[in-house]
Amino acid sequence: MGSGKVTSSVPSGSSEFQGKHVTVAGLGVSGVPAAKVLHARGAIVTVVNDGDDARAREQAAELEALGITVRLGDGATLPEGTELIVTAPGWKPDKPLFLAAEKAGVPVWGDVELAWRLRGPDAAPWLAVTGTNGKTTTVQMLASILKAAGLRTAAVGNIGVSLLDAVLGEEEHDVLAVELSSYQLHWAPSLRAHSAVVLNLAPDHLDWHGSMEAYAADKGRIFEGNRVACVYNVADKLTEDLVREADVEEGCRAIGFTLGTPGPSQLGVVDGILVDRAFVENRHKNAQELAEVGDVNPPAPHNIANALAAAALARAFGVPATAVRDGLRAFRPDAHRIAHVADLDQVAYVDDSKATNTHAAEASLAAYESIVWIAGGLAKGAAFDELVAKSAKRLRGVVLIGADRALIRDALARHAPQVPVVDLERTDTGAMLQAVTEAKRLAQPGDTVLLAPACASMDMFTNYNQRGDAFAEAVRELGA
Ligand code: ADP
Repeated sequence: MGSGKVTSSVPSGSSEFQGKHVTVAGLGVSGVPAAKVLHARGAIVTVVNDGDDARAREQAAELEALGITVRLGDGATLPEGTELIVTAPGWKPDKPLFLAAEKAGVPVWGDVELAWRLRGPDAAPWLAVTGTNGKTTTVQMLASILKAAGLRTAAVGNIGVSLLDAVLGEEEHDVLAVELSSYQLHWAPSLRAHSAVVLNLAPDHLDWHGSMEAYAADKGRIFEGNRVACVYNVADKLTEDLVREADVEEGCRAIGFTLGTPGPSQLGVVDGILVDRAFVENRHKNAQELAEVGDVNPPAPHNIANALAAAALARAFGVPATAVRDGLRAFRPDAHRIAHVADLDQVAYVDDSKATNTHAAEASLAAYESIVWIAGGLAKGAAFDELVAKSAKRLRGVVLIGADRALIRDALARHAPQVPVVDLERTDTGAMLQAVTEAKRLAQPGDTVLLAPACASMDMFTNYNQRGDAFAEAVRELGA
């Protein structure tokens, strides 16, 4: 880890936008509030948007009424005179708009960069969370812990709460728990968190970033300029490498979290207790008890890792051990994240519809001993060999659904030929009921029927929520 002092080039206040020609790329969750705030700060704003549907027209009308120019159906051309682009985070860096901007020397910021620059001089510091999986859970656990410590805080960012709203809203905060996606980090060059964590790193969104290296580099940006702690996953060397490469404030520490016994400057688990050997006096000899494994809801291994990461950030902010325990006890996971739906005939039915990639599904499968696995959907270019090979010994049976199920079936044939597989061809809405019926048939007392598809849902469902709801409904139907 470098120890170079980072001199922030962040200008405070808003006068920098007066009379400036700013192009906002993309309407939607971040574009509309960005356009409004820039306009209010005196910028001459043009919004460009690829789509031209009814929703876009409605949003455009709202902005045009304020005097903002909106160009629908053309997100590729750089408007004449543009001095700055503020982009929706999902816009790919190789879009012609950005290539033109680069050529013209026009800077590009995302919504997070804009929020970071617009926050006031006494603004709340940010505790930032990224990673391939576990971000939402960790940031919610963190907010719960901070609240238990009596701090005014909110879970914001990629979790669906606009950072602009959080930074500019009426509500006062002592500290923010910020979830950041790799896209948002890509477009946030001057962000400087108080402390940050990269939970894990597995190939995802590579079509957007171009390569694993570029994806990792964008994730690693979260550590740049950290003041107190850069938190990494001891079991995931790539995350530690990112800490080593980061240029941080002098005195900023590298803190590891592990499901094993923690070394000095780490948080870990000893005899069912979450312990801190980082933020204690004399960490070479002492450890502080934080909570019991049973305080983590649900106490699956990957979720304990999330709890340790959240605890590390909270402790870096000076939160006492009791608040970590109280905050974890108060935390309730969002729907469709290893949610226990019901027990039928001594078989547990668990909905982890949010396991939309192989890395998430692997964590999910590792949490149970004997599983009937419901998997499949849109593979997004993923390979399933590693996942299947690692999980084979836990599989009682598999029920495959969705467009790319052949990929998983082939991996099962290679690495788990003894495991019975039911391959469902139908993709209508009734397919989930059939899948759960088949799973029930395969399961034996003590088993877990686990929906952890390792794939996206859009071939059969609107989103992962609908897929999880269909699973829960099917379980209820079978139990009735
Ligand atoms: P994200 O916001 O990064 O998508 P979530 O907290 O919503 O993460 O969890 C998404 C899914 O990822 C969960 O349903 C679970 O399957 C898996 N998951 C959660 N935490 C971890 C972790 N630490 N490591 C691996 N997989 C995880």
